[in-house]
Amino acid sequence: MYEDLKLYINGEFTAGNSGTGEDVINPANDEVLGHLPYAKQPEMDAALEAARKGFEIWRKTSAFERSGILRKAADLMRQRVDDIARYMTLEQGKPLAEAKAETLMSADVVDWFAEEGKRAYGRIIPARAPGVRQMVIMEPIGVVAGFAPWNFPVSQAIRKIAGSLAAGCSIICKCPEETPGSPIAMVRCFHDAGVPPGVLNLIFGVPAELSEYLIPHPTIRKVSFTGSVPVGKHLAALAGQHMKRITMELGGHSPMLIFDDIDAEEVAALTGALKWRNAGQVCISPTRFFVQEKVYDKFVAKFIDVAKGMKVGDGLDETSTMGPLANPRRINAMDTFIGDAAEKGATVETGGNRIGNQGNFYEPTVLTNVPENARIMSEEPFGPVAVMLPFKDTDEVLERANKLPFGLASYAFTNDTALATRVADSLEAGMVSINHHGLALPETPFGGIKDSGFGHEQGIEGLQAYLSAKFVSHKG
Ligand code: NAD
Repeated sequence: MYEDLKLYINGEFTAGNSGTGEDVINPANDEVLGHLPYAKQPEMDAALEAARKGFEIWRKTSAFERSGILRKAADLMRQRVDDIARYMTLEQGKPLAEAKAETLMSADVVDWFAEEGKRAYGRIIPARAPGVRQMVIMEPIGVVAGFAPWNFPVSQAIRKIAGSLAAGCSIICKCPEETPGSPIAMVRCFHDAGVPPGVLNLIFGVPAELSEYLIPHPTIRKVSFTGSVPVGKHLAALAGQHMKRITMELGGHSPMLIFDDIDAEEVAALTGALKWRNAGQVCISPTRFFVQEKVYDKFVAKFIDVAKGMKVGDGLDETSTMGPLANPRRINAMDTFIGDAAEKGATVETGGNRIGNQGNFYEPTVLTNVPENARIMSEEPFGPVAVMLPFKDTDEVLERANKLPFGLASYAFTNDTALATRVADSLEAGMVSINHHGLALPETPFGGIKDSGFGHEQGIEGLQAYLSAKFVSHKG
């Protein structure tokens, strides 16, 4: 059983009239799951017109009423978690438990935004002249174009959809063509919860065709993209030419700093679980593990053990702890990164190979002795590979951690509070997590600096992203 693949335009699930589309493939066994119809210009025009009208309705709907509808959608997502998660595992590969957790966390995101939308407060500024009221009113920005990727098919889209809708915006969301079933099932929850026609629209197609038509279009007032740095820069430039507000959630190359006052085995087990989640196809996945010399051997030995202990298999098999990679491109990317590092002198401690020849299974891979000029040291691998790097002192590791143009997530483990504070203050990143994995909650801002992007999703910042301030000066 798999989702009926459709576009969602003006409150209707439709195949559209383009007559084109693509097959959706199960990355665990290469089987065709279904056929996805594409939106072309007529479907985009229909979505734009629907979203324009939907915005007029939705902006006038009270924040309380909007909240009620959103909370209903969140409840439906919880009720339908088994179906949504199953579709996600079928099309994306991640273990079912991860797909369920993603769906439930996404429902929490909707709930959180539903409540936060009621608190889109403005302010009163003391006036210089008697009888004058100076007000700042927060208004929904308008029709949003959202672009969400395939690694978290529901949770990446939900941040854009829930943020927009809670603020009073309407949205056209382009969800990933490779993993469309779970976002369609998620959108059905909003439809069934009573979101008016046109407020939420879901399209699929050739990504460049859709973004290049939608972003410049005068109906679109805000662009929110999650994906790779090169595509993000291209879309940000396009948005800039047309003066559209943007949120850009792009790639990372997260450093993990392991200081020598911690329990090496315990932390290796914990950070290993973090690394192999979603087969490493996570923008905040740690890649460069800087381990202080005294605990290096012990940490690396345990980390390798954890990697070897992963059970790589079909995500629907409950015993699998890591699924296949989402698409064959990632297999090629892993082979290229690992081959390049090995050629330049790195040691492949474990892994380094595709598993079998059906599905996109790949071994969890740990590299040591990686030279600075290996591509994996400066390019995001976005897959199940970790690099172990010894270090001596704090100044040195901070400099090495901050060296890359990325600045999304960073991590550190130490029991020294003063050191933890120094590290948190010094790491050039939008997010720092110390002594645990504490990122990506509905109520906390998620975003990067440097090449990793611009703006935030989730947290109060994630609502502000869809609001604009209007100043009203009133002499009564
Ligand atoms: P890619 O750069 O081709 O695409 C990345 C995402 O952007 C996909 O969802 C794709 O549909 C979309 N996209 C591509 N071109 C677009 C365009 N012109 N307009 C609108 N959307 C467009 O790479 P890929 O092979 O799909 O993914 C691999 C790379 O993407 C990884 O190396 C990683 O850096 C990045 N990525 C990042 C995230 C994230 O969460 N930040 C998620 C998925 C992929």
